[in-house]
Amino acid sequence: MLRAIMTRPGEIQFQDVPTPAIDEREVLVRIRRIGICGSDIHVYHGAHPYTSYPVIQGHEFSGEVVKVGEQVKSVHVGDLVTAPPQIVCGTCFHCRRGQSHICDHLKVMGFQAPGVAQEFVVFPEDALLKLPSEFTPELGALVEPTSVAVHALRRADLSPGMRVLVLGAGPIGNLVAQVARWRGAAEVIITDINDHRLDVARACGIEHTVNVRQQSLEDDLERIFGPQRADLILECVGSEETANQAIRCARKGSTIVIVGVYGEIPKVDLGLVQDHELHLVGSLMYQREDYVAAIEGLASGAIVSAPLLSRTFPFRQFPDAYRFIETTRAQVMKVMIDLDSVDE
Ligand SMILES: [Zn+2]
Ligand SMILES: [Zn+2]
Repeated sequence: MLRAIMTRPGEIQFQDVPTPAIDEREVLVRIRRIGICGSDIHVYHGAHPYTSYPVIQGHEFSGEVVKVGEQVKSVHVGDLVTAPPQIVCGTCFHCRRGQSHICDHLKVMGFQAPGVAQEFVVFPEDALLKLPSEFTPELGALVEPTSVAVHALRRADLSPGMRVLVLGAGPIGNLVAQVARWRGAAEVIITDINDHRLDVARACGIEHTVNVRQQSLEDDLERIFGPQRADLILECVGSEETANQAIRCARKGSTIVIVGVYGEIPKVDLGLVQDHELHLVGSLMYQREDYVAAIEGLASGAIVSAPLLSRTFPFRQFPDAYRFIETTRAQVMKVMIDLDSVDE
């Protein structure tokens, strides 16, 4: 079988290796689609702090079950499946408290463990989630980023009727805004500095968009939400600028969830966090129940996915996908890799 291995930043090599064997509780999955996200791009540029090379990328995916071990009961040959990419120890303080997503020994496939940029990957049966029959392979590969959004809103304690501000309209911000709407937010505003991303947000049904380079966020916030502004702010960029925007425009006593990943340590006004009694909450990845909810949201159509898909490349053209992202950065949302016809 073919696998793509990143030998060093920016260099992807294809290797032909034997298809792995499975034991009685394992499942062989033929990978069908892989989504590329911001973290993958950091790895491509050698800018991901927790990844060493060589590495097999790929953590957002769907695949088809092609072989099951004798003891496997929950999935069958032909099923479309996905799985969270977390490999956890199961014994640390957090794992024992049911919070394995913050396991002290967490390894994520595609970063600290081999990812799914391979024709076939073996999974333990209980890692897999079967996708509903109406799912396309593309939809399956969107379960991972949608789960990030579901988890963030769970961390936010979103309740119906809330007014929600989402900073950043990339794929994660977009999905956070959509999940907020799905989960009963009264109104959602999404911001960015990129008009294309705001167009995509509107195409996904998020009606209030603000380009913070052209409009005043404070003014728009009061105009749309009224003087009480937002009940909840989700920061989905990971920059000093948006962290400060969140803190400055937060209503006293409201909640800010940090979803963005920070490459650099931001300088932020913690004085306002203290003086305005803000709740500052972090959100990392997801738990299995977030995957279950994400599948439900995508299956029901509550989460609109088509406008998010920018382009799909065949597996052999994996390096071209990164070049495409590089050259069309402002226009790109989600790029996927198609492994269905590997030999072409
Ligand atoms: Zn990702
Ligand atoms: Zn653990």
